[in-house]
Amino acid sequence: MTETEILNIFKRTGALLTGHFLLTSGRHSEKYFQCAKVLQYPEYTEKLCKMIADKFKNIEVDTVVSPAIGGLVVGQEVARQLNKRFIFAEREDKKLTLRRGFSLEKDEKVLVCEDVVTTGGSVFETIEIVKRNNARVVGVGFIVDRSNGKVDFKFPQFSTLKMEVVSYVPDECPLCREDIELVKPGSRKIKR
Ligand SMILES: [Zn+2]
Repeated sequence: MTETEILNIFKRTGALLTGHFLLTSGRHSEKYFQCAKVLQYPEYTEKLCKMIADKFKNIEVDTVVSPAIGGLVVGQEVARQLNKRFIFAEREDKKLTLRRGFSLEKDEKVLVCEDVVTTGGSVFETIEIVKRNNARVVGVGFIVDRSNGKVDFKFPQFSTLKMEVVSYVPDECPLCREDIELVKPGSRKIKR
């Protein structure tokens, strides 16, 4: 799929919104991205994850590992297409860990999958889990790179789309100056 086709899917499913948004950081942005909106549709999940699976199909992978919750759908679908095992790490006392009897063996080859990377925090934590178990990361695949390529995991990495996230402190926000209504995504509109 081309970048335009991917962007069209994001727009059509409401995953990518344009307007004036209040981010959780308190900053304002013209764009808002919610990956779960596109992953509602198995048809699109399959297409996007195929790009990731294709990218890594020629390297040896034993297991796909994802950080919950965001990475679950992506990891599961990539693993299905590669016909490999899928496990996930989840937060316990704010720390990502393997639970439910999931484990990794020494030298097991792991592909880490995630939905969205902004700072890469959850992926870096997942990589640490793999290393602690003496298994080996062979790649990192994700749907959207919101760092626009700035986050480097030091392993072969692939995203279906890179995105520049422009945000402003409220005082310097050009959208505020234009008097465009401020919206907090996922909740009711905010009156200004
Ligand atoms: Zn603003």
